[in-house]
Order: sequence, then C-alpha cells, then structure tokens
Amino acid sequence: MKSKFSYISQSFITQGFWTALSGLLLGFLLYGCTPQAAPPQQDAVSSSQPTTSPAQNEKKVILTTFTVLADMAKNVAGDKAIVESIAKPGAEIHGYEVTPSDLERGQKADLILDNGLNLERWAERFYNSLPKVPHVTLSEGFEPVNIADDAYNGKPNPHAWMSPQNALIYTDNIRKALGELDPANAATYDANAKAYSQQIRAIDTQLKQAIAAVPPDKRYIVSCEGAFSYIARDYGLKEVYIWAVNAEQQATPKQVERVINTVKENQIPAVFCESTVSNEAQLQVAKESGAKFAGVFYVDSLSPPDGSAPTYLKLLEYNVNTLIKGLQGN
Ligand SMILES: [Zn+2]
Repeated sequence: MKSKFSYISQSFITQGFWTALSGLLLGFLLYGCTPQAAPPQQDAVSSSQPTTSPAQNEKKVILTTFTVLADMAKNVAGDKAIVESIAKPGAEIHGYEVTPSDLERGQKADLILDNGLNLERWAERFYNSLPKVPHVTLSEGFEPVNIADDAYNGKPNPHAWMSPQNALIYTDNIRKALGELDPANAATYDANAKAYSQQIRAIDTQLKQAIAAVPPDKRYIVSCEGAFSYIARDYGLKEVYIWAVNAEQQATPKQVERVINTVKENQIPAVFCESTVSNEAQLQVAKESGAKFAGVFYVDSLSPPDGSAPTYLKLLEYNVNTLIKGLQGN
C-alpha cells in the first residue's frame, strides 16, 4: 500500500516562490549576521542528508520547527525514525527565516512537528510550499496562558514547553503523531514516550522542590522575554520581563524603566536574559537597579551539544539552577 505520507515532487514549488525566497535571502545578507542569528548552515545537523543510505530510507523523517521540539521527538522516536530541527541551536525562532535548504529538507520529510500558539510566524508560508507534507501542532490539549501586555493582550503565550507539565502533553502528542505516521513502530514510540515522561516528571519534582526552598518574597524571575509564564504559574514564581515576545527585542525606555522600578521596589537581587537575544537592555536594568546580571536562560533554543543546555531536560535544570544561584547571590 502506498503511504499517504508520500514524498512530494519539486515541481509544485513555483518560480514565484523562489523569487520571493531569493529576495528574502538577499535581505538577510544585506542585514548581515546579528549576534542572535543562526550560524551558517554548515554544522552536522544541516549537512546530513537523511535519505541517502538504503538503511535510512526505511525510516520516517520527522522535522521539527526548533531544537527543543527535536529533542523531545528524538526521545520518543528512539532509533526508529530520523528527527531533525529546522532552526539550528542558537537561532531565534519567532522571526526565523526559512532557507532554500530548509525547503529541500521539508520536501523530503514525512512529517513536520510545530509548537503553534503563534510561535512560528513563518510556518504558514512554509507549509503552503509543502502542501503534501503533513504537520502536527504539539501544543494541543491544554489551556494556554494569555500574555498580559498591551501589544499582545489576550494572545496566547507561545512558550508552553517551558512547563514540564505541558511537556508531558507535548510528548503524548508526539507519541500519537509518530504512531499514526508509522504504525509498525507504534509500540516502541509508546514505550519511549512513557520512559521519557517519567524523566520529565522526575525533573519537575526536583526543580519544584528547589524553588520551594527559595524564600517566598525572593521568588522572582526577571528576564528579557516573557517566556516564563507557564513555569512561573507551576512553581509559584513572580514573572517580570522587558518585552513580551522575542520578536521585538527593542526595549523602549518605558519598558526598561518599569523593570528597574519593579526590581528596586521588591529588592530583587538578580536579573537575567535569554541565550538567543541581546543582553543590553537587561544590563542597563542591572546597572540602574543595583541588581546583579546573573546569566542567561535557554528558552527558544537548546545550546549546541557541548553547551549548558543540549537537551530539553538539561535546559530546565540549567535555567532553574541559574535562577536559584542568582537569587542566592552566588
Ligand atoms: Zn520566545
């Protein structure tokens, strides 16, 4: 029987799309590489061609929009499917710009997994170019926390994966999607998802206990992006941020002043930023409030393999440890 997830031919990619894409790439080159931009596509992940060997041909190829989802999906897939991320470690995900190589990989994929909740603003156009490749949104099945900020008021906060409780739902959604795509290996996906969920629960308990040891009046998480609403809710933290979503990254004087005032009023000892954006505005907050700038969190991307947060579980652990050390003045 022919799989319903058959590969698509290149012919539907219209000339118009490629023209648009070249324009986009030219724009990218003209702007140059900002510090938070993805490194050039020459690392092991992007240079690997998933369907070159006969043995690999039998495995399904799953793309995820960013590195955090790829790590979760790899834990569920095990060695039964090939999982790769479209965005590379360190790439800014909200305003990610699709490359010709991403489209090529998209054409060869059997399934694409995304976060949804307006995280991947580029995904719709990407999917329009890949009409035959199915995609599944992983943030289905729970109530999103809305952003309480003027510009985004009432819109869902996209950073749902930052809560381990939500990650359990992501994991189950990955399990279902993989089992449907590849029923022959469904039992393995079920078993892998179960084992991974146990690891997520264990980390969740451990981190919740660590936060509970911080005095209640010191339980603040001050960062650049409002990415911690879900974990703040779960762990009883108060969240303070400069901008709601990293798509902006241009702090207004008013936003900076608001954070400085909150930090001063509550004598918050430490402030932080994230690995994918500039620290500049938060360094100003630190300088003017007297708080210490105590490091960066990993949110919209994992670190490279040799960094501090090469997996989702390590990301959770690193963030909470960095927060606690900062709040303790270490
Ligand atoms: Zn973000």
